[in-house]
Amino acid sequence: MKPIGPIPPGFAAGGDGSLMIAGRSVEALVAAAEDTPLFVYDLATIHAQVIAFRAAFPNVALHYALKANPCRPLVAAMVGLTDGIDVASEGELALAQEAGAREISFAGPGKRNRELTAAIRAGVTINLESEGEAARALRIADGIGIRPKLAVRVNPDFTLKGSGMKMGGGAKPFGVDAERVPELARSLIEAGADWRGFHIFAGSQGLDADALIETQGATLDLAAKLAEEVGASPPLVNLGGGFGIPHFAGDRRLDVSVIGAALAERLAQPPEPLGQTRFAIELGRWLVGQAGVYLTRVIDRKVSHGETFLVVDGGLHHQLAASGNFGTVVRRNYPLANASRFSAEPTEQVSVVGCLCTPLDRLGDQVMLPRTEVGDLIAVFIAGAYGRSASPEAFLGHPAPVELLVG
Ligand SMILES: *Cc1c(COP(=O)(O)O)cnc(C)c1O
Repeated sequence: MKPIGPIPPGFAAGGDGSLMIAGRSVEALVAAAEDTPLFVYDLATIHAQVIAFRAAFPNVALHYALKANPCRPLVAAMVGLTDGIDVASEGELALAQEAGAREISFAGPGKRNRELTAAIRAGVTINLESEGEAARALRIADGIGIRPKLAVRVNPDFTLKGSGMKMGGGAKPFGVDAERVPELARSLIEAGADWRGFHIFAGSQGLDADALIETQGATLDLAAKLAEEVGASPPLVNLGGGFGIPHFAGDRRLDVSVIGAALAERLAQPPEPLGQTRFAIELGRWLVGQAGVYLTRVIDRKVSHGETFLVVDGGLHHQLAASGNFGTVVRRNYPLANASRFSAEPTEQVSVVGCLCTPLDRLGDQVMLPRTEVGDLIAVFIAGAYGRSASPEAFLGHPAPVELLVG
């Protein structure tokens, strides 16, 4: 038996014993979707995260990192709930615009000229990833006669401790090394660009509040030092994000109110060059991850060498992360459950495998579930972030999953 991750709070069984999501039974949701597998995103869960953020960070802008979940109706909801949308491609930019976003920032390496052009025309803040990109952006802006909004993404000389994905510290393809940032920022100002400030993102999926507090403190110190060297006050400092959510057994739940209190203390007396600066935090996973459930139906139940396999109609082509093949070193089980018998006690050890012809396609490895029959629904939780869009949907040619926004 191997442990599964903790099921996010708020899920319970209805009168028939099956899992309820936003007050609806899973079979009712499947009926609405007209097929399995499907993703269900509960807006109320996202709303609760936003409320928790606002309470913890009353004076900090909240940005949504669209790449976590680009489902159209969800993005439209995020535009209403947050202060800005962070995009990383021309496609994401178009999505954000269609959803009605007014504040958009654009980070990410390898921005093509046509992407820079689209961003400058749209009045988007471009987080510059290199001196070369800065030169191209200035040239393009000059050519079309628009004053570009340009911020500098900083590759900090520190990283978020214990973070799942390190984005700063040492040689990185992201941002400009901190010691070269002042010169670049000065050159943007001299060229007449609308310099928007700094973007400093030090890591992702942090579950240790102390480490996040330390990183935010270091980010503020770095922003102040850079601003002093630039000789100008940055209008905005994007402090990055990195708030994580528990995925695996033993993961702790992050208390953002502690982080907010520490930041508020620092911002009550900001370093002098940041006296007029606004601050933003950009989040993806923490905002939307727990709101998503992936529902997939058991197609076959079979035994091989004493091990019971539940074969489902979904798999890693929709939910790569749960198979352990998206940025994890050791495969561990995401939280999952028999959604048709959510209130039943676990009685048997099974492995839940997807319908792809590869041994990588495993959604649950030697997990304990109630006795499960063909036709039952399996729920894989934490499917709201880096789910469908971060999975190889075309691999093996199965249909696309349905996505339902509820709540
Ligand atoms: C991906 C990304 C995010 C969002 O990260 P999460 O872990 O989903 O919160 C934020 N900022 C940047 C620059 C990113 O690339």
